[in-house]
Amino acid sequence: MTNFKDLGVSAPILKALDAEGYTQPTPIQVQALPIVQEGRDLIGLAQTGTGKTAAFALPILDRLMANRKHAGEKSCRTLVLAPTRELAAQIGDSFRAYGRFLGLSTAVVFGGASMFKQKQALCRGVDILVATPGRLLDHVSQRSVRLDKVEILVLDEADHMLDMGFIHDLRRIATLLPKQRQSLFFSATMPPPIAELAAQFLNNPERVSVTPPSTTAERVEQAVIHIDQNKKQDLLHALLADKTITRALVFTRTKHGADRVVKKLESANFPAEAIHGNKSQGQRTRALDAFKKGRARLLVATEIAARGIDVDEISHVINFDLPNVPEQYVHRIGRTARAGAGGMAISFCAPDERAYLRDIERLTKQAVPLMETDLSLRAPKSEGAGPRTKAPAGRGGQPQRKRAPKKHHASEAHGKAHAKQGHTRSRAREEGDRRDRKGNSVWSNSPAHYRKQRKPTR
Ligand code: AMP
Repeated sequence: MTNFKDLGVSAPILKALDAEGYTQPTPIQVQALPIVQEGRDLIGLAQTGTGKTAAFALPILDRLMANRKHAGEKSCRTLVLAPTRELAAQIGDSFRAYGRFLGLSTAVVFGGASMFKQKQALCRGVDILVATPGRLLDHVSQRSVRLDKVEILVLDEADHMLDMGFIHDLRRIATLLPKQRQSLFFSATMPPPIAELAAQFLNNPERVSVTPPSTTAERVEQAVIHIDQNKKQDLLHALLADKTITRALVFTRTKHGADRVVKKLESANFPAEAIHGNKSQGQRTRALDAFKKGRARLLVATEIAARGIDVDEISHVINFDLPNVPEQYVHRIGRTARAGAGGMAISFCAPDERAYLRDIERLTKQAVPLMETDLSLRAPKSEGAGPRTKAPAGRGGQPQRKRAPKKHHASEAHGKAHAKQGHTRSRAREEGDRRDRKGNSVWSNSPAHYRKQRKPTR
């Protein structure tokens, strides 16, 4: 089996990896390291949790060391662009951890933090600059950084850059970079607009892919519960009575939705934190810290705010609302089962979200197994049989697909899950929480209320 030494990683970095507890390279690292070391451009198709940060950070550190020189005032040798503050901070931490014995300098700049301190960090020039696109351009316009000496460019989570409307910023940044450079481009999915963006940045790239595009993380056990929107909170409380949910990331579609869920969780005695685009940087950092250190068992987040959250021991991802963009489902459930561990993703599906579920199943080419509880709605017999939902534009009805044979009983499914394991998105998308508060039913927290799943009759 290939190890980091065979891949040509230098001794001081091997020592740092040892300290991190990395024994074997992950598949994306095995594929990407030699290409980056050769100085070639790269497209890496890899979902979160695959070890893609080290796949670019390790060879970059080695390349910077092989040709050690000063970046020059207000300049950087490597520029890493990330869509969110959290992801940028995390990438910066990774470079510092892997390069701890190298004496290279790293700066991280993102919005919502002091410009002044960032300017100070950039003043003498840095080896590695990690930035969100908007704040980087602020620094460019205030002449606190110049990009004409960049030797290596990394564009991470390119699909989210587009989702978040960074396309114009990226095009502008491209014009400020030298033509002669190495470019590395990472994305979990590669729909045509991302491929076009890649073509603008890359020159004759090598392509590596660790999972086929748009497939779900293999080790994540999945389940869906059909439920009325106004019973979702009760369902969440009922599920949380199960102690095997040790640390859960709960996704809502909107920022207000996230706040509402947290408020109700807290009044039911489930300590929870919210993280979304309306929170200040300080609040986000504190919430994440409470979650990481186990003071809060639950972190309720909107899709975009959760990007870059790297917490190893998330036992469960709970989709309180299903995402209306199917690729987001893949990202969300990838927050559990990180770095080789298992995990479980449970999705709540209201009648008007069934079209989203169909889109997800079509994208991932697998049916999400049903889980039933006393609060469950009867699952739709066929895709056309449930209450009529409005499919997103351009997606028509599909012939009925066979359900996966596997079925979950709620508590059994939890038992299987085990430990070990920015910027706001477009406001228009964050709006529109369709929560209906009518008809609340009283629900006991006892798991005894779970009803055994009966085989569906067809
Ligand atoms: P990433 O996909 O870069 O966000 O990495 C996901 C997680 O895997 C992070 O917590 C990394 O610290 C961890 N990781 C990356 N490479 C390895 C490795 N070779 N062995 C063990 N853990 C790793």
